[in-house]
Amino acid sequence: MHFRGFFSPQAREAEVFPRLMLVISVIACVAHLSFIVLFDAIGVTVLAWANVASVLVFALAAWLTRQGRAVLALQLMGLEILLHGTVATALIGWTAGFHCYIVLIIPVAILSTVFRPRTKAVVAVGAGLYDIGLDMAYRVATPAIEVAPDTLAVLHHFNQASTLLILGLLSMAYFRLVKRAEEGLRELACTDPLTHLRNRRSAMEMAQREAAVFQRGGQPLAVVIGDVDHFKHVNDQHGHAVGDTALRAIARVLREGVREVDHVARWGGEEFLVLLPATDTGEALRVCERLRQGVQVLSTQNLGGVALPLTITLGVAVLQPGESIEQVLVRADRALYEGKQAGRNRVVLAGHEGPPAL
Ligand code: GH3
Ligand code: MG
Ligand code: MG
Repeated sequence: MHFRGFFSPQAREAEVFPRLMLVISVIACVAHLSFIVLFDAIGVTVLAWANVASVLVFALAAWLTRQGRAVLALQLMGLEILLHGTVATALIGWTAGFHCYIVLIIPVAILSTVFRPRTKAVVAVGAGLYDIGLDMAYRVATPAIEVAPDTLAVLHHFNQASTLLILGLLSMAYFRLVKRAEEGLRELACTDPLTHLRNRRSAMEMAQREAAVFQRGGQPLAVVIGDVDHFKHVNDQHGHAVGDTALRAIARVLREGVREVDHVARWGGEEFLVLLPATDTGEALRVCERLRQGVQVLSTQNLGGVALPLTITLGVAVLQPGESIEQVLVRADRALYEGKQAGRNRVVLAGHEGPPAL
């Protein structure tokens, strides 16, 4: 098996738990192999043989997991841990620490993606009660086989370390899962599903941030609102699906027509917002003219199997000192309206109204 990419962002949620089980199986296999050697060396033959069986069980669990039978693998591993914990505790005593692994059943069951909530609760409570029962029965009982105190101490710390390692791995996997789910949700909440551009809410947040940079003495911020011309006709004549294709193509033209540091968002139905940080009026007008021409070129490209008459009108306003983002947006919108009135398919610069009264 390969560990590389175990926690990679590409690992889908459904794959993470089986992958984790594979890692646990391999660690368990290695640990039990070392127990075979150890128990043979100290003359506890029965436990050496028991560990041969354990190695086979964990190897089988790993194989079953790879075959997509994670539930069976999990049941098998749970059974092995219970049996092994009980037999080893009964034979060489509570101090050896073989019962530690029983506690691991609780997080594994709860984090598993293959159990239903009720099953998780039953397994977790059952494992907890079993461990307490084992403690009551064997903590002070005389073990069946006497092991030298030094050996017992080594066993105790080995079992403790393995348990903590597995616990650490489990916590890491769970943290990654939650983080990935959170990132996915955040991206979903900020993205327009049709064009994959920022949505209006995310664009407004970005605009506030860029405006704050400018008001703290930063470079000029140009705000552009573009509205596709006569888009209703496109829908009416060619259908909504073709309209959607056109919107996606326009979004691509806008995104590809600006720098990495610029922001393009879907502002509304067939309206787009473009934020151009560190851009003065002259440069903003040049960029907008390029975008306007880019959209017009789409008319020649048989989008959705037909030639669509696509043009866009753009209103541009450059943020003034003391002006709020809402105010500059109103000016850009007014410029856009003027462009529509003047015949569409053009770029219009907003009038300078001077700093607003405070
Ligand atoms: P104008 O040049 O004045 O902007 O005219 P217009 O037809 O573009 O403006 P209007 O506001 O009358 O119509 C906008 C159209 O955009 C109507 C609506 O169906 C369409 N539209 C908005 N969102 C979507 C969408 O997600 N997909 C599709 N296909 N059409 C959309
Ligand atoms: Mg509109
Ligand atoms: Mg329109």
